[in-house]
Amino acid sequence: MTDTSGAPTGTPHAFQADVARLLHLMVHSIYSDRDIFVRELISNAADACEKLRYEALTHPGLIADESGFSIRITIDENAGRITIADNGIGMSHDDLVSALGTIASSGTRAFLDKLSQAEGEEKAKGADLIGQFGIGFYSAFMVADKVTVETRKAGTQEAHVWESEGKGTYLTWPLSLDEAPAHGTRVTLHLNEEGLDYAKPGRLAHIIREHSSAIAIPVDVIEKDGDEPVRAAEGSALWTRAKSDITPEEYADFYRGLAGQFDEPALTIHWRAEGRQEYSVLAFVPGARPFDLFEPARKVRGKLYVRRVLITQDADLVPGWLRFIRLVVDSSDLPLNVSREMIQDSPVFAAIRKGIVNRILQELTKTAESEPDTFKSIWTNFGAVLKEGLYEDPERRDALFKLARFATSKATDGARTLADYVSELRPNQTDIWYITGDDQKRLEKSPQLEGFRARGIDVLLLSDPVDAFWVSTAVGYDGKPFKSVTQGTADIANVPLLEGKTAPSKETSADVATLLAFMKQTLTDNVDDVRASDRLAESAACLVAPAHGRDRRLEQILAQGGMGSISKPVLEINPSHPLVAALAARFAKGDDKALIEDAAWVIHDEARIADGEAPIDASEFIARLTRIMTRAAQ
Ligand code: ADP
Ligand code: MG
Repeated sequence: MTDTSGAPTGTPHAFQADVARLLHLMVHSIYSDRDIFVRELISNAADACEKLRYEALTHPGLIADESGFSIRITIDENAGRITIADNGIGMSHDDLVSALGTIASSGTRAFLDKLSQAEGEEKAKGADLIGQFGIGFYSAFMVADKVTVETRKAGTQEAHVWESEGKGTYLTWPLSLDEAPAHGTRVTLHLNEEGLDYAKPGRLAHIIREHSSAIAIPVDVIEKDGDEPVRAAEGSALWTRAKSDITPEEYADFYRGLAGQFDEPALTIHWRAEGRQEYSVLAFVPGARPFDLFEPARKVRGKLYVRRVLITQDADLVPGWLRFIRLVVDSSDLPLNVSREMIQDSPVFAAIRKGIVNRILQELTKTAESEPDTFKSIWTNFGAVLKEGLYEDPERRDALFKLARFATSKATDGARTLADYVSELRPNQTDIWYITGDDQKRLEKSPQLEGFRARGIDVLLLSDPVDAFWVSTAVGYDGKPFKSVTQGTADIANVPLLEGKTAPSKETSADVATLLAFMKQTLTDNVDDVRASDRLAESAACLVAPAHGRDRRLEQILAQGGMGSISKPVLEINPSHPLVAALAARFAKGDDKALIEDAAWVIHDEARIADGEAPIDASEFIARLTRIMTRAAQ
C-alpha cells in the first residue's frame, strides 16, 4: 500500500529495544562473511515448510496443492532485488509482530548477551561473534536497506505485509488475497550497495550449492524474469543417503545448519539401525562448545523425524549429559498420527534413545583409542558434561570411566585414564586419591599433596564443579575406592617414601602435643580439631575436612547454592616443620603466650589462603602478621 508520494503507509511499530541494537550492529558491522544471510533465510523457509508438513498430518486441508514443498528464489539484478519464497506455514499478523519485532531465537539472544559481556577490544570484534551464532532473519539487513515480507498463514483468509528499513521501526499492512501466496512467505531484499553483488548471475546458486545443499526442502533459483527455475539444492534429506555418497563438506554444512554453529564437527556419526526398530541417525560432536552448554535447563536439541516428517526440533533423544551432541533421528516405526508428547512417551522411542546412547558411547570409545588427539579436544570441550553421567546414569558409569581423562599431580596435561592410574599404584597404596577445587593450577600447589608427592602417589586434580558430585557418589574404580586428600586422616604412612624424600611422622613430642592442644583451644570457633599430619612435607599446616561428612569442595558448592552450611575443618600441622618445633619449645618454656596465639591464627589463615579462601578476618590477620614481623625485624 503506498500513498501518493509512493511511500508505504500502514501501521508503524517499534522494534523491541534489543532488536534495534542488533540491527544497528548488523548495519554497521564490518562483518566479512555476509553470505550467511542466504543460509539463514533458506533455513527459515525450510523450517516453515516442515512446520506445515507436520500440521498437515492432522489437518490435510491446510496444504493448497499437491506439488510439494519448495523454496523459490527470484533475482532481479536491474532492480537490485532478491525474493525468497516458500510455500510453508506462513505467519499471521500476531506471528509477524512477535517473530520479526522481537528477538525470537535463543541463539540471537545469546549473541546479544555475549556481546554485552564483552569489553573493549572484544566489543569492537562483535562482528566475529556474529559468526559464531546463527543470527537469523535480521541478518538480511547486512545486505539490504529495506526488507519486505509478504505472508499468509496456512488455513487463514488474511495476508499481511511487513516492511522495514532496519532503523528502529517497521510497518505492517494488509495484503489482498489475490496478491498473496496460497500459504507461505515471500521475503524481498532491496539490496544495499554491499549487497548488490548477490544479484549477479550465478552468485546465489553457487552459495546455495555450497552451504545449503543438505537442506530438507528443494531450492530453485530463477536467475532473471522469464527464466526457467534451476534446481540449486535437491532437498533430499542427507541422512537418508548412503554414507559413501556423502562428502565431508556436505556433512559439515549439514552440521552447521543443524547446530547454528559455524565450526567443523569434531566427530560425525551416521548409521542406520535395522532389526526390531528401524531408524537413521546422523549425530555430530561439535568442534566448539555451544553457547548454552552450561545453562541450567540442560536442553537436548535433537531433531526427530518420522518417515521424513519433522516432529520436533527438541526431542529428548539423548540424556542431559550428552546434550552437546547435535543430531537428527528419522524413525520408520513411530506413529505419525499422535501428539509429539505421546511419541516421546512411547516404548519405541525409549528403545531408540537407548540404542543411540549405546552407539554414541561406542563411537567415543573407538575415537579415544584410534584418534587420541581428536578425542582429547572432545574431552576438553565436553568432558565436564559427560562426567554428569557418572552420577546420573549408574548404568553407564563403567563406559564413562573408560572415557574419562584426568589431570593428575604427576601428569598435569589432563590425559590420564583411571586405567593408567591404577596400573601405577605404589606399594601398599589401596585408594585412588583426588583433590577437588576450582583451579587446577592452585590444586597442583596444594600443601595437602606434599606427603603424597614424597611417596610418589599420584593424585587426580579435579577442577570441574561436577567433579565434587560424581566423586562423592562413585563407589570406586577397579575395586579401588576414591579418597579425598583433603578429608579425614590420610593413612599413607605405609607407602614407602621416594628416595631422598622425608615426611613427618604423626608421632609427636610432648611439647608439640601441648602446642597443638593450645592451638585447638585458641582456634576452637573455627576448627574442629588441630592435629599432627603425615600428608605434609614442606608446609607448616593445611586444612582438611573431618573424616565423616562432605568433601569441603562439595560443601562450598552446596553452601553457595544455599543448600547446607560449611562444617568446621581440621587444621593439620607438620610436626617436623622448624616453625612448629620452635613454637613448641617456646610454649614449653612458658614465655610469650601472645606470640604463640598470633602464630596460631596466622598459620590457620595461611592454610585458608592456600585453599583459595580469605582469612577469617583480614584486618586481624594483618595486625597479627605485622606484630610478628615487627618483632622479627627489631
Ligand atoms: P529462528 O529461525 O532461530 O527462530 P529467525 O530470526 O531466523 O530465528 O526467525 C525468527 C522467527 O520468524 C522464526 O522463528 C519464525 O517464527 C519466523 N519466520 C522467519 N521466516 C519465516 C518464514 N519464511 N516463514 C514463516 N515464519 C518465518
Ligand atoms: Mg532462522
